[in-house]
Amino acid sequence: MEIYFYNTLTRQKEKFEPIDINEIKIYSCGPTVYKNATIGNMRTNIFQDVLRRVLRYNGYKIKHVMNITDVGHLVSDGDDGEDKMLKSAREEHKTPLEIAQYYTKLFFEDLKELNVETPEIVCKATEHIKEMLEYVEELEKKGYAYETSTAIYFDISKLDKYPILTNLDLENQKAGARVEIDNEKKNPADFALWIKAPENHLMKWDSKWGPSYPGWHIECSAMGQKYLGEQFDIHTGGIDLVPTHHENEIAQSKGKCGKIPANYWMHGEYLLINGGKMSKSLGNVYLVKDIKEKGYDPIVYRLYSYSCHYRNKLNFTWEGIDATAKSLERLRNSYQLNLNGTDELTQNDKERLIQIEENFHKAINDDLNMPLAMSYVWELAKFEKKNPEVAKMLEKFDSVLGIKIDKINSENQDIPQEILDLVEMRKIARENKDWTKSDELRDLIAQKGYIVKDTKNGMEILKGVKNE
Ligand code: AMP
Ligand code: ZN
Repeated sequence: MEIYFYNTLTRQKEKFEPIDINEIKIYSCGPTVYKNATIGNMRTNIFQDVLRRVLRYNGYKIKHVMNITDVGHLVSDGDDGEDKMLKSAREEHKTPLEIAQYYTKLFFEDLKELNVETPEIVCKATEHIKEMLEYVEELEKKGYAYETSTAIYFDISKLDKYPILTNLDLENQKAGARVEIDNEKKNPADFALWIKAPENHLMKWDSKWGPSYPGWHIECSAMGQKYLGEQFDIHTGGIDLVPTHHENEIAQSKGKCGKIPANYWMHGEYLLINGGKMSKSLGNVYLVKDIKEKGYDPIVYRLYSYSCHYRNKLNFTWEGIDATAKSLERLRNSYQLNLNGTDELTQNDKERLIQIEENFHKAINDDLNMPLAMSYVWELAKFEKKNPEVAKMLEKFDSVLGIKIDKINSENQDIPQEILDLVEMRKIARENKDWTKSDELRDLIAQKGYIVKDTKNGMEILKGVKNE
């Protein structure tokens, strides 16, 4: 089945044509590991994980690279402000390396909680200084870089077109002067490839320009090229990366090898909190651990993110999370109910299942339309007949959803007294070895939308999805 992705580069939805059908190559901009990752950052990681899973659902093998920015970058996306890593190190009385190790570990723990797969290659900036230096030297050799008293800059006027991802008006940007103007820069939008380190700067490396350190954008260009080649299939990141980081990655790559590094550029929109920005001053910076501490399975947040297309802003509310927690419980119960279901499937039922699968597949292939895909997941979860074939299909869908649909709900559930009485009657029947009655009672309980499982620790009652 054909796959379509919205490509920021061409500003339209395009049919996905891989460079090599045997392996799809993806690069994702990873975290700057100087603070906790928020659930906003995690939304971007979930989107990227869904992309991986959708490609695999279509039978593709993937080589996915994600970098860890453990050097720099500056507080603003321009070339001004303090170095984020160094600021945290100073504030937390740790070395930059300790800061990076600490937050990298937490980042991967959060990904695990959300069932986000680790990319095939995770690469740290500090372990690729040589590659970055070579890249900058090559740009200098080709006339795209020049030295000032503070840094080595990329000269954007040497390109045929800049910017190309956005319609930014550089003249106006200059007037707005968000970026501090360095008088030595040839063009206001020139950006630092390599930065000369001041005397007391902690993270620096020897180069022909003296003790210095890499700019932020060069990191992804150098590592992307090392692991995926000069041109690969998909480049992803959060929407905020478009006008600076990704624009500059493209500039670097065009300078070095005359190519745009990726064919498809995919960007995830922001998560809002109660309709606004997440900010420390508003006290609404939420982490995965906050979701857990409120008693929710973090996977609830993953499912919550499917209520909105990745290219739209998603509004986070605790009420939304609470409602989604119930949805997750119902989906998991439906899976169990089907796994143990004994209803016969007619030819017509089988055809309907095939149709649901096709609809689901079409939705995920249409630029990862998860809200639409979820409507087919629910159609399946509410299928009138309870049969292991339905469970099998739910499991297949879960290879994309990643909501661990086969996990048994452990939360206390409100089981009606009527059901508890039937379960008790079944227990007595079993004690009396009256298997026929035990089975009849199990079927009766199932008809009422519950499932009773015999486990090592006794009987377990699960609430199923009622047929509507
Ligand atoms: P930051 O921690 O601000 O450097 O963000 C790291 C990456 O996470 C950014 O490049 C964004 O792509 C993404 N990100 C940050 N905040 C949000 C948010 N509220 N919603 C979605 N993605 C975000
Ligand atoms: Zn990047």
